[in-house]
Amino acid sequence: MLFAGHMVLAYFLNQALKRKFQLYFTFSLPLLFAASILPDLDFLFSPVIPHHTITHSLTFWSLICLALIIIKKQAALPYVIAVLSHFLIGDIITGNPTLFYGLSNQTFGNIRSDLSSLYGADYGMLYLALVEAAIVSMFVVYAISGRGVPSIFSFPMKHVLIFGIVLLLILVGTLKSQILFVVTNQNEIIYISYAIIVLSQMIFAAIITKGTIKISIRNVAD
Ligand SMILES: [Zn+2]
Repeated sequence: MLFAGHMVLAYFLNQALKRKFQLYFTFSLPLLFAASILPDLDFLFSPVIPHHTITHSLTFWSLICLALIIIKKQAALPYVIAVLSHFLIGDIITGNPTLFYGLSNQTFGNIRSDLSSLYGADYGMLYLALVEAAIVSMFVVYAISGRGVPSIFSFPMKHVLIFGIVLLLILVGTLKSQILFVVTNQNEIIYISYAIIVLSQMIFAAIITKGTIKISIRNVAD
C-alpha cells in the first residue's frame, strides 16, 4: 500500500477495535498516521537497507512495540497497531515483506510480485493503484456518511509537524525509485496507475486536512 492506504488501514483498525472491545483509548491522528508509514523510512537508506526487509519485520518491531507498551501502556496501543498493520496487513496485500528478517528470508504476500512476473511490472503497479483507490473510496464513504473524520489540524501543531517530517522524508526517499520505474516502464497502464495513485492521495489529503467533523482536543491523549 501507499501513504493513504496505510493511514486509512491504521485508522479503520483502531476505530474497529475501539468499538468491538469497547476500549476507550484515544490517539492523535497525525501521530497515528506517522506511525502507520514509519516502516517505509527504509526508502531513505536504500540500497544499504533494501525496501521491505528489516523495517518491515517482526524481528525489528516486536521489541520496540513491547517496550512502548510497557512504558506507555494502553496509550501506545493505537500506534503499535498502526506500525504492525503496515507490514502485517498493508504490505502483505500489495508487497512482499520479509516478516522474520534476520531469521528467515521467506517473503509473505507476493500477490503483486506474482502478478508482475506473470503479466509485467506495469500490471503489478495497476494492482497496487486499484487497491489504493479501493481503500481510499472506503475512507471517503466513512468520512462523509459514517462517524466522520477530524482534521489533523485539530491536534497539537507539534504532532502535525512530526507527521509532516516523516511524510517528507519517505517522499524524498522514494522519489528516485519511482522516477526510475516510470522511465523504464513507459506505457498507458503505468500512466493510468499513477493517475489513480495521485488522485487517491489527493482525495485522502483533502479529507484529513479539512476534516468532516469537529472534535474537542481534550478528548485526545498526547
Ligand atoms: Zn511498506
